[in-house]
Amino acid sequence: MRIGAHVDSTDPLAEAAARAADAVQFFLSDPQGWKAPKPREDAERLRAAGVDIYVHAPYVINVATLNNRIRIPSRKLLLGHADAAATVGAKGLIVHGGHVNAGDDLAVGFDNWRKTFAYAAESGGFRVPVLIENTAGGENACARRLDALARLWDAVGEFEVGFCLDTCHAHAGGEELLGLVDRVKAITGRIDLVHANNSKGAFGSGQDRHDNLDGGTIDPDLVVALIRAAGAPVVVETPGGATGQAADIAFLREQLGVEQRPA
Ligand SMILES: [Zn+2]
Repeated sequence: MRIGAHVDSTDPLAEAAARAADAVQFFLSDPQGWKAPKPREDAERLRAAGVDIYVHAPYVINVATLNNRIRIPSRKLLLGHADAAATVGAKGLIVHGGHVNAGDDLAVGFDNWRKTFAYAAESGGFRVPVLIENTAGGENACARRLDALARLWDAVGEFEVGFCLDTCHAHAGGEELLGLVDRVKAITGRIDLVHANNSKGAFGSGQDRHDNLDGGTIDPDLVVALIRAAGAPVVVETPGGATGQAADIAFLREQLGVEQRPA
């Protein structure tokens, strides 16, 4: 069981060491911006490291939207990130499920997801596995509630698509964590990564506000049970910098009875 953290992108391996993490996730560009990722000087070091690497795509990406001015650059940015993620040996590229605007037909949003993979396949496919992550808020989201997730997977299931389950987003999004792994796997057939976060927002609040595992509105035992059921690598995206995240990682290792992977 590999357990790590979302860290600053300047020196991810130093951040991993500071947290005793087996895995790190980071951004390759400004998460709120549209700039393509720049080549990293430490790419070879990252590839060779014993630490598993995950890349989180920018938040601005929304391949589902009916708005061409967002959707087209989103596809391009996602493809560019997959290329860049491959250069650092990433095991996956995490991207939010996205949404359509109020009044727009969600069915078109799911089909836009299908086209994203179909167009990528024409040029050889994404160079790293793309993991679609469930989101916390909005009424027109593609991957907030499981009924939407099922429709999304109907659209993209013919492609090799991964799934990242975020516990804060599920809880705030209105999905009970108890038994959630089975319900998700019945749809996706897989969980490739767990984002283990507590939630400042209440159940069903729609608020995307992460908290440390021993804080927030989720019973941490439920997060532990979910991780055990998922059997997937774990990344915490919790506050408190190296100290806060190291404590969350240590808590999970203790509860799950696993040790840091030897370097
Ligand atoms: Zn997340």
